Amino acid sequence: MTLSGIVVTQIYWVRQAYSLQEKEVNDRIVIAMSTVVQRILDMNQDSSFVEPVERVSANFYTANINDTLHPYLLEALLRDEFTNSNLLSDFEYGIYDCFNDSIVFGGKVLFDQEQGKPQPTATNIQKKFEKDGHYFGIYFPAKSSMILGRMDFWIFSSMLILLVVIFFAYAIFIILKQKRLSEVKTDFINNMTHELKTPISTIGISSEVLMGSGISHQPERIKQYAQIIQSENLRLKNQVEKVLSIASLSPDKAEWKKEWVNMHDVIEQAVSSSKILAQGENGEIETVLQAEQHQVYGDRVHLTNILYNLLDNALKYCEDEASVVVKSWNSSGKLHLSVQDNGIGIASKHHKNIFDRFFRVPTGDIHNVKGFGLGLYYVKTVVEAHKGKIELKSALGEGSTFTIILQANKHE
Ligand code: ADP
Repeated sequence: MTLSGIVVTQIYWVRQAYSLQEKEVNDRIVIAMSTVVQRILDMNQDSSFVEPVERVSANFYTANINDTLHPYLLEALLRDEFTNSNLLSDFEYGIYDCFNDSIVFGGKVLFDQEQGKPQPTATNIQKKFEKDGHYFGIYFPAKSSMILGRMDFWIFSSMLILLVVIFFAYAIFIILKQKRLSEVKTDFINNMTHELKTPISTIGISSEVLMGSGISHQPERIKQYAQIIQSENLRLKNQVEKVLSIASLSPDKAEWKKEWVNMHDVIEQAVSSSKILAQGENGEIETVLQAEQHQVYGDRVHLTNILYNLLDNALKYCEDEASVVVKSWNSSGKLHLSVQDNGIGIASKHHKNIFDRFFRVPTGDIHNVKGFGLGLYYVKTVVEAHKGKIELKSALGEGSTFTIILQANKHE
């Protein structure tokens, strides 16, 4: 806001400076032309009154001269006066007949910019227009550049300010980015603390019950509590493993164990495990595997994990009954794998951040679906390490489709 204010003020000042310069240049031209007229009248020893110079358009000026006029002399005087007034811009001049406004003579004066002197003329010295009914006009084709040329200081200082503004904007951008990252990290830590605390306290309570004196006679209850401890322990183990595997993953450091992997096998395996997980949650997973080339040279464990992650999300972020379709096909020599769901969808404004580390779609204080915001980051990292890419097609309330595109290889 403030920065744009500075830019607007700067533009205002530059424009202001331009119009001041323009006024000054106009005044100088008018004075120079009046002086030329005066000098001609003096030379002809004529006592006529010097009529005011007229500015016909932005770049065109006229002056009346009711006296004998030698074009050569006029040009010489104009060169002289303009050089004295430091108006070193090329110009064209014309001598007009007052009665029919037609041009009777025209010439051009070019300035040698380096030396600040006009170039020699080719005007015939003999030519002469008799007294009465003539005026001359001057046209400056490059008047704006002459004005700009006089604004060196302004242009330089504006550039400097612009540079400072850009630098500030960049610094603010970085600060905001850092702020978001730190908020996201705090969220992650809160989330994780919550995720780990619940099973730990459940295990604690269950073991206290098991240690109680009365329970030794109730084998059914002992079994029930032992089962609770076992399942919570498993949950804990999964959470810790997920965080550790992702936290230690870096595209450069990771040691990939590459081998030929049949992605259809990987899909079948991930789908059957996810089906077990989805049991009781009324979810269904369908597969449409049409790729003929489905061998990928990569790390089997990570490639399997990314499918688990996508399937896990597809089942998690769903309001009613999840219906997930996993497809594979070949196109332009690549293997495409897509996981499509009928879930809550992702608003387009979140698409650009969805693969960021720790990013979760903000839901206010409602955290009905647990997670750390690491799954998709992991998926993207693995896909990119295999020189592939991942695409997302989704809209709020319309389900999501994640498509992974990998190099498909023929492996006999
Ligand atoms: P999380 O552990 O939170 O699931 P992910 O990295 O797997 O982390 O996903 C990041 C965020 O993207 C999720 O918090 C969720 O808001 C959104 N998301 C991921 N997959 C889906 C999906 N299939 N449908 C709707 N939202 C999704």
